[in-house]
Parts: sequence; C-alpha cells; structure tokens
Amino acid sequence: ALASAIVPAMEKGQMLDGRHAVITGGGSGIGAACARHLHAAGCKVSLLGRRIEPLEAVAADTDGQAISCDITDRDAIEAAYAKAREANGPIDYLIVNAGIADSSPFHKMKREDWHRIMSVNLTGAFDCAQAAIGDLLSGEDRRLIFIASVASLRGIPYAAHYGASKHGLLGLSRSLAREYAQASLTVNAICPGYVDTPMTDQSVARIQEKTGRSEDEGRAAIEQMNAHGRLVSPDGIATQVMTLCLPISRDINGAALTIDGGTDA
Ligand code: NDP
Repeated sequence: ALASAIVPAMEKGQMLDGRHAVITGGGSGIGAACARHLHAAGCKVSLLGRRIEPLEAVAADTDGQAISCDITDRDAIEAAYAKAREANGPIDYLIVNAGIADSSPFHKMKREDWHRIMSVNLTGAFDCAQAAIGDLLSGEDRRLIFIASVASLRGIPYAAHYGASKHGLLGLSRSLAREYAQASLTVNAICPGYVDTPMTDQSVARIQEKTGRSEDEGRAAIEQMNAHGRLVSPDGIATQVMTLCLPISRDINGAALTIDGGTDA
C-alpha cells in the first residue's frame, strides 16, 4: 500500500510538489545530483555556487534558478537568498553542500589553508544556515540538510583541516537538531564516503602529483578507501536527501547518515 502511494506520486513528480529547495554548490557533483532528484520529485530549485556556467547548465535541466554566490561572504548569501525567494518563494529545504578539500601533512599545513577550508566548510555552512533560519522555522515540514562526510566521524590523515571542519559541521547539525526539535524543522547530516565527483577527481590528481602514480592507480587508491572498494554514487546521496525531505521523514532529526559502503561500520 505504501509503495502504491509513493511510486505513482513520484512518477508524476508530485512527491514534493511546489516546495522550494536551495542547494549550495548546486553546479556539480553531489549538489547537481540533489538538484535533479529534487526537481524530479516536484521541487523548485535554486542553485548557488561561485561559477555561473555550471549552475546554469544544471538549472537548464531542472527549471532552476542559477545564482552566483560565494558562501564565504554573508552579504552575498543574503542577496542570493533574496533572489531565490523572489523566484521561488520561501525556502522549504536548505541543502548545505558547498565544500572544498585539500591535503597536506600537518607539520607543513599553512594557517591560511586551515582558514580557507574552515571559511567554506564550517563558517560558510553557519552563515548559509543562519541566513535561512527564519524561513526554515516559519513553515511546515522544513528541512536543513548538511552534506558532511565520513571525515565527520573519524580522523583523516593528511587533511586535519578538512577533518576538523567536517567534525564541526556535524556538531553544528546535531546542535541545531536539538535546539529546534520542537519546531516543524528537522536538521540532519549526510556523511558520504568517497563519491564519484569532481572533488574526488581533484584528490586523484593530488595523488598523481605527489606520488607519481598513474590516474588509474590514484583512482584505485581512493576507491579502496571505501570499505566496498568503489566510489559512492552522487545519485545515491541525492536519493537520501530527497527522502529526508518527505513529510514521512519528520522523525529523522539529528542523524548522521553514513553512505559509505560500510567504511564507518
Ligand atoms: P564538487 O567539487 O563537485 O562540488 C563542490 C561545490 O561547492 C562546487 O559546485 C563548488 O562550486 C561549490 N563551492 C566551493 N566553494 C564555494 C564557495 N566558496 N561558495 C559557493 N560555492 C562553493 O564536490 P562534491 O560534490 O564532491 O562535494 C559536495 C560536498 O560533499 C562537499 O561539502 C564535500 O566536502 C562533501 N563530500 C564529498 C565527498 C567526495 O568524496 N566527493 C565525500 C564526503 C563529503 P564553485 O567552485 O563554482 O563555487
């Protein structure tokens, strides 16, 4: 009976009909997959990122709004949300996905690299969430979803800044989940393992550069970091994001949902 209610609604694109999803980092990888899945489920989508061309390409596929915005700039976030609201109404779902990664042995890590990672992955996430909180608290079944990482749950050698930023992001998510537990808002984090996206392509390139290994060897090394020995699909992450947005998911709050092929088991 459940399937018979959900599947036809999904086929008609009515699952989340007319709801407004804002996705940071919506022009590539996980964010672009979220845009496609949420659009297929009936959402209006607003896509934020620094580079406009990839945002416009995803927006063209999803009837979305492409809005150029650097999330390290609070004023730019406020202006981007104003444009998003003008086009699509109040924000029902905020997917805080934009992030950057880098690697360095700790003893060589530069302070400016620490701050650069923190300013996007943690302070940027704070600003994106806080600038939307008025919307998220003023309607029914609203959702705040952070794309965290397995790096939120365990140490990541040679990426102490990234690991610290993602641990902080999970702390932010859990804290807000409890703070707003009585509201019609849930706050959750998704913790992917290594996903098949441009960010992982960059990690492969760094391995090639630092070790002289071939691209295939670099990619195989990353695949082996996931317990199941392959990269996680961005569509699998996006499906979970979409599912968290369903009204039936209203009791899932403060979760750290691993999608990592068993790496954190
Ligand atoms: P991508 O590099 O494909 O996507 C990252 C997105 O963030 C880009 O669209 C980028 O757009 C945007 N972005 C980066 N900096 C800023 C900024 N200052 N302002 C606005 N947008 C910004 O990688 P993924 O899709 O893999 O990453 C998405 C999230 O998933 C990240 O938070 C990442 O940490 C997390 N994650 C990824 C994993 C992986 O293996 N790939 C594993 C676990 C978590 P632009 O450059 O145009 O601004």
